[in-house]
Amino acid sequence: MPTYEYQCQACGHQLEAFQKITEPALKDCPACSKPNLERLISGGAFHLKGGGWYKDGYGSQTAKKPRTENDRIDKLTKTLDEDKKKTAEAETSKAESSSGETAGATAPSSGSAPTTSSSTSS
Ligand SMILES: [Zn+2]
Repeated sequence: MPTYEYQCQACGHQLEAFQKITEPALKDCPACSKPNLERLISGGAFHLKGGGWYKDGYGSQTAKKPRTENDRIDKLTKTLDEDKKKTAEAETSKAESSSGETAGATAPSSGSAPTTSSSTSS
């Protein structure tokens, strides 16, 4: 369950809340009872205001991000890596099998031809 940070825009009170992603954002400040809580989503508000979400993501601020954000990035990276592996394996086997069969049929510069065609098709 992700941890959300809230800050009251009226009195500046900050709090953290464990919520499901589907739960509505908290509004009422426990300190001053005004409905002025604003959710700080993974520090995203700061990045967006700075205008450099992607740039900042790779900078030193990465360490300051809440763990939930890093977890998501880790998962994404893993998925991408697995995808890459699969693609690489598929292309290797394709290249191996096709290079034997089509060596005579294709042009002399056949080394690059199978790779280009297979990457565009996938
Ligand atoms: Zn308040």
